[in-house]
Amino acid sequence: MQLQPIANPRVEWHATLSLGRNNLITSFFFCLIFKFFIMNANEILLTPHFKFSEFNCKDGTPVPEHLHYNIRMLAGCLEVLRGHFQLPIIINSAYRTQRYNAKVGGVANSQHLSANAVDISILGTPPLHIFTVIRSFMKKGLLPAGCVILYDTFVHYDLRGHIVEIDNRQCKSCQQ
Ligand SMILES: [Zn+2]
Repeated sequence: MQLQPIANPRVEWHATLSLGRNNLITSFFFCLIFKFFIMNANEILLTPHFKFSEFNCKDGTPVPEHLHYNIRMLAGCLEVLRGHFQLPIIINSAYRTQRYNAKVGGVANSQHLSANAVDISILGTPPLHIFTVIRSFMKKGLLPAGCVILYDTFVHYDLRGHIVEIDNRQCKSCQQ
């Protein structure tokens, strides 16, 4: 028996429709898989307590690949602090794009631009306490040398390679 091409236009129409639907379903699943991989990339743990996504710019820009080494270093340092305080560390800001850095009033050569800095706070822990611990750990060699800046509500720590300590509190009553 010889197979005949589909001559019935209704059958052809059904075939086209079903092919279109299959394409739609396939695209939908590809999108889901793609989204799953993107989400997973952000959920990757750099260290036991810190996720990759926590270091992204707050405007949603992920840390560029050539700066991944820096955030791995920072995450390692934050693990040291987390181990000391035994409390979750909140990363208020890590990597910043030029645009976002300008928007939040960061200095032009900010270490945040190279994903080399974090602004952190710890619930229920005065920033002065965090500042003191970072300073002491740097001096003891438990943390890499860098710059620690004390603000009213958070502490900046970056890995610039030499120790710098700055008290940048605006609240006068805090400065005693
Ligand atoms: Zn900072």
